Amino acid sequence: MEEKNNLFSLERKFGLCPFLCSDEHGLRKCPKFFRFKRKCSPEDYYKDSPIENDLLGYCAAGVCVFVGNKYLFLKEMRDGKIKYNFPGGGRETVQTELLLRMENIYETAASEFAEEIGDLAEGGHNSSFITEVQKKIISLECKIIWCSRIKYALVLVQIDDKVASTLIPAKIVDKNAEAICFEWVDFNKKVRSRDFHSFVLPSIQKILDVQYLTTNKSHTKR
Ligand SMILES: [Zn+2]
Repeated sequence: MEEKNNLFSLERKFGLCPFLCSDEHGLRKCPKFFRFKRKCSPEDYYKDSPIENDLLGYCAAGVCVFVGNKYLFLKEMRDGKIKYNFPGGGRETVQTELLLRMENIYETAASEFAEEIGDLAEGGHNSSFITEVQKKIISLECKIIWCSRIKYALVLVQIDDKVASTLIPAKIVDKNAEAICFEWVDFNKKVRSRDFHSFVLPSIQKILDVQYLTTNKSHTKR
């Protein structure tokens, strides 16, 4: 049976406007998109799903994959300094059978994840690890962290050790790639805040706070 989901056969159209304006510009430069962008939530949040205005007006999405206290990061070189960041990127236009439209959060997250982690992993964009994570993303069961400053939705994907063990670094990586490698970072151990992009640690803190509350709640129930 064909396992390929519809999501994966969508074609991303970089630099193309879905509203068919006469000017040549991509989605994020489109004046018609600005009215959605303006209505995004001004507050950061952690929720089961995004608020509707943010579904419409978000500009970028990323993926936070974690197993226990270990979180998956891209290690990037920025201005000579190493920075850890979540895999993710900008929202694009997609071509479906019938029309051009804006991507949704889960499509951006799944596509960017495959592109960024897939470039660095054995098996590339279609490796079993990427496919497992993408399945979780499109199941719509993932929690969301909203970062209002950059209109960015972070999709949280919890996996188990078995799935995590299938992620293997590629033997040869393109030297021009922005990221050097991927790395699991253990937040049980001390980390240096300057090694992370500014929105990363507040996001991790939100996840850890919620896990702590959930664990304590289940303890008191017993
Ligand atoms: Zn336009």
